[in-house]
Amino acid sequence: MVISLKTPEHLPITWGFTDRSDLSVRHDIQTPQQVHGNHIIEYSPDQYLCEADAIFTTIRGVKIGVRVADCAPVLFGGKLYDGNVLIGAVHAGWRGATSDIWGKFIDLFIHRGGLLETAAWAIGPCIMKCHFQVGNEVFKAAETHKHWVQVKGQNYHAKDYFDLPEFIRLQAKSKGLDPALEFGQPECTYCNSERFYSFRRGDLKDRQYGWIKIE
Ligand SMILES: [Zn+2]
Repeated sequence: MVISLKTPEHLPITWGFTDRSDLSVRHDIQTPQQVHGNHIIEYSPDQYLCEADAIFTTIRGVKIGVRVADCAPVLFGGKLYDGNVLIGAVHAGWRGATSDIWGKFIDLFIHRGGLLETAAWAIGPCIMKCHFQVGNEVFKAAETHKHWVQVKGQNYHAKDYFDLPEFIRLQAKSKGLDPALEFGQPECTYCNSERFYSFRRGDLKDRQYGWIKIE
């Protein structure tokens, strides 16, 4: 089964996440060449999509997205002051997230004339705290973000469980996104590996997709 998200009343978008059973949809999803960085590109119909970990567009009818297996797919849609809609998809593993790809994406939306109070967003299936044991370098990278340290404090363990969706939520909050406009609930890819691809469970090649489209 595929996860489709509710359409926000104020935005003409469709959006959702694929799973192992969805073999059809991936062919028409436009994704960048993902490299676990924090570069963002604008979709262009006549250009090769280069290396980036977030993509956005204001063009109707194009499905843009990211491919993931444990990293978090974050989908976004919001209105611009000129009445247009801007949508995007962000690939946020711990490297991308701690190098602020999601914060940069929200800044880009604001810079393009985005109305923050209209911004709807969703975190898709990803590895969650129950299974995301990481080395202390991940916490040290997260602790360069003020909003994370304020809530979580410093972590001194050599290994510990990192809460990636919570990191993404705290970033969203610090940038002024409305928590009431978060759609859907992420599920753990490792716990639900019969349904989702999980890199840590051994899915080294296959990926599910997070996608979004302006209707
Ligand atoms: Zn889990």
